Amino acid sequence: MRTTTFAAFAACFLIAGCQQAPDAPFPSGTIVDMSYAFNDDTIYWPTAPGFNKATDFEGVTDAGFYYTAYTVSTAEHGGTHLDAPIHFSEGKWAADQIPLENLMGSAIVIDVQEQAAANRDYLISVTDIENWEAEFGPIPEGSIVLFRTGFGKFWPDREAYMGTAERGPEAVALLHFPGIDPAAASLLATERSIKAVGIDTPSIDYGQSNLFESHQNLFGANIPAFENVANLDRLPMTGATVIALPMKTEGGSGGPLRMVGILPN
Ligand SMILES: [Zn+2]
Repeated sequence: MRTTTFAAFAACFLIAGCQQAPDAPFPSGTIVDMSYAFNDDTIYWPTAPGFNKATDFEGVTDAGFYYTAYTVSTAEHGGTHLDAPIHFSEGKWAADQIPLENLMGSAIVIDVQEQAAANRDYLISVTDIENWEAEFGPIPEGSIVLFRTGFGKFWPDREAYMGTAERGPEAVALLHFPGIDPAAASLLATERSIKAVGIDTPSIDYGQSNLFESHQNLFGANIPAFENVANLDRLPMTGATVIALPMKTEGGSGGPLRMVGILPN
């Protein structure tokens, strides 16, 4: 009996999701900040207004104490942000409706840096997913699937990151960055059971997409996306935990996201 209890206790440290010992620090592991700061350089879609931070007050008040306050404004889809399923799928979850448990969990990383370096219009394929599974096994149920294209290293250089630094509606046709092939998105949406996807580019559909079919395929299955994810190069292929909490805008189609990776020690 004692042996069984000890075995269960020991297994506790090996299995993700198990409760920690009461005196263990929380969270245990190395923390990685997976969000970019919002500032004047933050990359937005060419048609979206950028981030704005206006000063309401900054300095020493008449009463003698220091005080700062700002008013910020932002498009939902810029910087490190959430795409809620309703962004491309009527009736699906808005930013405030996604269950919190779907925004945190075990992460897997599918690396396509080599392919994306050779072709900035690269579409992450069904084969890329199958190759990952051939090495690590089937994508575990409830995973957050992160795609590492390597484009994060270009941030915040708009031209290198997106393919163009131009803005306005005409600039959209000039976008060149990798994304998920709609067939791969469809596979994840229908034949796997995942919580969310994430990518280190401005969009889960590649820059040249006109129909945003990967958005449609995933969001139709209520699978949200995280875009412009930072520091993806620091995550292992398996074993990390991710927590990605967006601003809770009622009915929002997305929004600024504070995303954290916790790496096993
Ligand atoms: Zn978006």
